[in-house]
Amino acid sequence: MRAVVCVPGGTEMADVPDPVAGPGQVIIEVTACGLCGSDVHAIEHGQTEPGQILGHEFAGRIAEVGPGVTGWQAGQAVAVNPLGACQACRECAAGLPFRCAALPNVGLSAPGAYAEYVAVQAGQLVRLPDGLPVEQGAHAEPLAVALQAVQQADVGPGDAVLVHGVGSIGLNAIMALRLAGVDHIVGAGRSPGRRAAAAAVGADAVIDTRETSLRDYVAGTGRQFQAVLDCSGAIGLFAESLDVLAGGGTFVEVALATEAPAVSLFQLVQGGLRMAGTCAYSYASYAAAVGHIAAGRVPADAIISERVGLDDTPSALARLRAPGELVRILSLPGQRTQPAQPARADGSTLAAQ
Ligand SMILES: [Zn+2]
Ligand SMILES: [Zn+2]
Repeated sequence: MRAVVCVPGGTEMADVPDPVAGPGQVIIEVTACGLCGSDVHAIEHGQTEPGQILGHEFAGRIAEVGPGVTGWQAGQAVAVNPLGACQACRECAAGLPFRCAALPNVGLSAPGAYAEYVAVQAGQLVRLPDGLPVEQGAHAEPLAVALQAVQQADVGPGDAVLVHGVGSIGLNAIMALRLAGVDHIVGAGRSPGRRAAAAAVGADAVIDTRETSLRDYVAGTGRQFQAVLDCSGAIGLFAESLDVLAGGGTFVEVALATEAPAVSLFQLVQGGLRMAGTCAYSYASYAAAVGHIAAGRVPADAIISERVGLDDTPSALARLRAPGELVRILSLPGQRTQPAQPARADGSTLAAQ
């Protein structure tokens, strides 16, 4: 089959052996796989092995059912939870399957979905309803990340929440906050295209933090935040957030941030504030994400900037190193590259195009 494989400094197309369905596995013919920022980062920083196949935000159809698999048939449309997990250990019980050592993760420790076919455990499949474009199942992974992050924030109607960083995860966080009933969502981002996308998926206000500091914004509106979700990893954001969080508020770190901030713990204590780290999602959050997409409750399509064929996936991964106006790119192994959909600067619904 054709696949995008890692090579030193990037990725390239290659012919590789077709995957074989082991016991308990199925082969998925990949319909769509989202290009994830964590893949872009891993490639850019040399954290990949030569020949490795990345890609973990995907959906497709079952092409083949392996030995011992019951309840699944060839042709069924599925979204695939890439996290292999035993669902029995302490970490799994705590809703942290990414910490489970039992099974490999598709697109990380096992071959992923920047390819025509991929082998996965049947236990990681979530059925997509008939009539739903299979491509939409590829949105479940980033939405699940966002649902899990919003759960940590513990917010709802009457609350104001800041989402800092409006790339794919930040935009999904805005959708998840809408689902949670939060009535004042502020997005913060630097690229005009991404800010337009934030408005399109439900942000009530969108700010450029190079022009307006969070402290100035809150001073101007007179409204503090019940939660700040950091989807950017921006240096200094945690310290600044302590000044803009309302009493009892929560700072949620969603990005793979590496800062070691010097902050006032007294401020944390005095404000009754909480700080939470969140990574990936529980199996329940992943299934919930598929449910929201299937029911049409989230405008996940609205943030797609481009759909590229497999052959153009290596160059798309390279372009995402400096995304500019790009928001989300889908790799469609069975199709050719389609014309780009630039985000609308006026914030009108991108999906309407
Ligand atoms: Zn991802
Ligand atoms: Zn486990």
